[in-house]
Amino acid sequence: MQEKKVLITIFGGTGDLAQRKLYPSLFRLYQKGHLKDQFAVIGTARRPWSNEKYREVILASIANLASSEEQAVTFASHFYYQSHDVNDTNHYATLKNLADELDREYELDGNRLFYLAMSPTFFGTIVNHLKSQGMLTSEGYHRVIIEKPFGTDFATAEALNKEITNVFDESEIYRIDHYLGKEMIQSISAVRFANMLFEAMWNNRYIDNVQINLAENLGVEERGGYYDQSGALKDMVQNHILQVLALLAMDPPAAFNEAEIRSEKIKALRAIRLYDEEEVAKNFVRGQYVEGKIAGRKYQGYKEEENVNPDSRTETFVAGRFYIDNFRWSGVPFYVRTGKRMTEKGTRINIVFKSVPINLFSHSFDEEKQNLQKPEPNVLTIYIQPTEGFSLSLNGKEVGNNFNLLPVKLDYRNSAEIIANTPEAYEKLILDSLNGDGTNFTHWQEVAQSWKIVDQIRKAWDNDTTSEIPTYAAGTMGPDEAFHLIAEDGFEWVWQP
Ligand code: NAD
Repeated sequence: MQEKKVLITIFGGTGDLAQRKLYPSLFRLYQKGHLKDQFAVIGTARRPWSNEKYREVILASIANLASSEEQAVTFASHFYYQSHDVNDTNHYATLKNLADELDREYELDGNRLFYLAMSPTFFGTIVNHLKSQGMLTSEGYHRVIIEKPFGTDFATAEALNKEITNVFDESEIYRIDHYLGKEMIQSISAVRFANMLFEAMWNNRYIDNVQINLAENLGVEERGGYYDQSGALKDMVQNHILQVLALLAMDPPAAFNEAEIRSEKIKALRAIRLYDEEEVAKNFVRGQYVEGKIAGRKYQGYKEEENVNPDSRTETFVAGRFYIDNFRWSGVPFYVRTGKRMTEKGTRINIVFKSVPINLFSHSFDEEKQNLQKPEPNVLTIYIQPTEGFSLSLNGKEVGNNFNLLPVKLDYRNSAEIIANTPEAYEKLILDSLNGDGTNFTHWQEVAQSWKIVDQIRKAWDNDTTSEIPTYAAGTMGPDEAFHLIAEDGFEWVWQP
């Protein structure tokens, strides 16, 4: 394996994301040989840390991963700390000197990856300074990884994108949606495009509806202040849910590569119907959790959480119905459902196939029962997390002299051992960026279209300042309205509590 020669500069190097996700991910890449001798990492943040202090933090964050102390210490020796206020232009000169020095020392050929692991309010300032202060080399590549959220609506996202594209080319920008680094999200394409059984039926002739569930059992934890400004729609639907929807709905790409997959995803997103206010009220439901119990333990309601406005109208739950107005999907509802403090944590996709055209079993052969038998619709479920795998429900016959239909389930789940060895989303995504592969990152046009879709919903909700926000008890799968929404169409949520 050829090692990746690179200088990685992490803005926000003392932060939570860096310590919990980035350092362990870099270490795993090191253990696998993707990073070896010719790499260096500069961590920057405002705190006046020394290299020694920084390396102690690195060692602590990889403590349970290292196979020997020597391995951990050698890895940490590639890390350098530079105290740096991103608003202070002069600080970039020091940073540039250190970068140039490390480039020479480790013979990195000018390859530079900048990771912006800080509050999005700083993204513009940082990229502008990278250019004006000469941090971008004329040799090698320079790429930037940008954390979410990318803007708070279409207008702010567009303004941010302009700033970034003044400095970096679209092909050098890696907008993170860590969901796209998850094993089973990537597996959606395998299930769809490697199975004739499914691809042949992946359209409105055979599929009744699609359900995307992204449930959390956690509340807002210590992020109440941030969450109250954001809400479930912006936090989950704009990015993760619409990305999953695009992967499910896109046409087969001409080739399995970045350009072709992105272009199909963008087309799918563009075909999603943009709702006016009346349509939002008909197709989307919001909710807020109130006190309830999960696994016997009592949890307080959202408005009682720390740093949350007691009169807050922020939604902690969203359920909705999207329509994709193209030949493939016309008439097929794509239901989405996401929220905090739900029954259990899990991301699951259910593809509900249509029923057979004629029910041959409406008359039972069982004289005693004389019941009407109806085959259950076939459902393909893709489990993203915490279990990984898929299942397919079919109808068989109950053993015996009678003829009774028996629902059966073919079920495949990755073993606990496989899951334990699955590369973390961040590990995969960092490696992709080192390989220059943007397939599992979001292109500007995807971000833009997702915001346009979500802005319409947000606008309708913000304009409605009087109607009550439906509530749901902590530990349930959302307010009654979310169940009515799907029942109106004659369907039900496959994932029931
Ligand atoms: P954090 O608050 O823990 O870290 C912020 C970092 O920025 C710190 O290192 C701080 O020192 C530095 N910083 C703040 N102001 C600075 C300044 N003026 N100059 C230089 N450095 C400054 O935040 P975090 O949780 O690590 O999140 C970072 C980014 O990652 C955010 O965009 C967040 O939305 C995103 N994100 C985080 C997580 C997570 O699990 N923490 C998950 C998904 C996305």
